[in-house]
Amino acid sequence: MANLVLEKLSKSFGAVEVIPGLDLQIEDGEFVVFVGPSGCGKSTLLRLIAGLEEATAGDIRIAGESVISVPAADRGVAMVFQSYALYPHMTVRQNLSFGLENIRMPKDEIARRVEAAAKMLQIEELLERRPKELSGGQRQRVAIGRAITRNPKIFLFDEPLSNLDAELRVLMRVEITKLHERLGNTMIYVTHDQIEAMTMADKIVVLRKGVIEQVGAPLELYNHPRNLFVAGFIGSPR
Ligand code: ADP
Ligand code: MG
Repeated sequence: MANLVLEKLSKSFGAVEVIPGLDLQIEDGEFVVFVGPSGCGKSTLLRLIAGLEEATAGDIRIAGESVISVPAADRGVAMVFQSYALYPHMTVRQNLSFGLENIRMPKDEIARRVEAAAKMLQIEELLERRPKELSGGQRQRVAIGRAITRNPKIFLFDEPLSNLDAELRVLMRVEITKLHERLGNTMIYVTHDQIEAMTMADKIVVLRKGVIEQVGAPLELYNHPRNLFVAGFIGSPR
């Protein structure tokens, strides 16, 4: 069964149609990368899937169930933002546990999940610090850790590494790939970095103005781009 299905999904802001009706099927456990120019609707699409934005029309199905009317907190989807979106006045531990306390999870289960996520991301030493005492890379680890503690079915990453320097980006790219191998979840990853797309993706989705130009495995798109637009994003133009 496909883990995530988007069916004629559309989104308008006022009179502006950002996503005109998009169909996409993502298999269980796939690592899917969205690429496309700035403003083409990548973040909007993630926000629709996460339930942070209401669709104008169409359906979203996760593991066969329509979630279009399900609140964000109950969709089983966790999102990692480019800006990290950590609470500055809370420690790392509090940032990791806050969302779980809100849903009244038992304290020992929260502690267990926080420890496990911290270990996975090698941030155990940082649990009592506040975000301002962390480097960009450490903050992004915390943001990913927070997503892990929610034990989601699907992870959404919105350009999570674009604020990091080149060296750290390479390191974190490998870490996220390892995380995917370890957890096996469906992951959707937005980037404008061609190397990230080529090396991380099982499947790349190329978007232009809210429309899918092409979907395929990295090498498929690299070797057989449907048009110059796709070639411009993946591989060498011809
Ligand atoms: P991307 O992430 O690909 O850069 P976005 O999804 O952020 O693109 O934006 C797609 C389009 O939707 C842009 O033209 C943007 O200005 C518009 N948009 C996004 N969010 C809103 C909003 N809340 N209100 C109005 N327009 C929006
Ligand atoms: Mg964006």
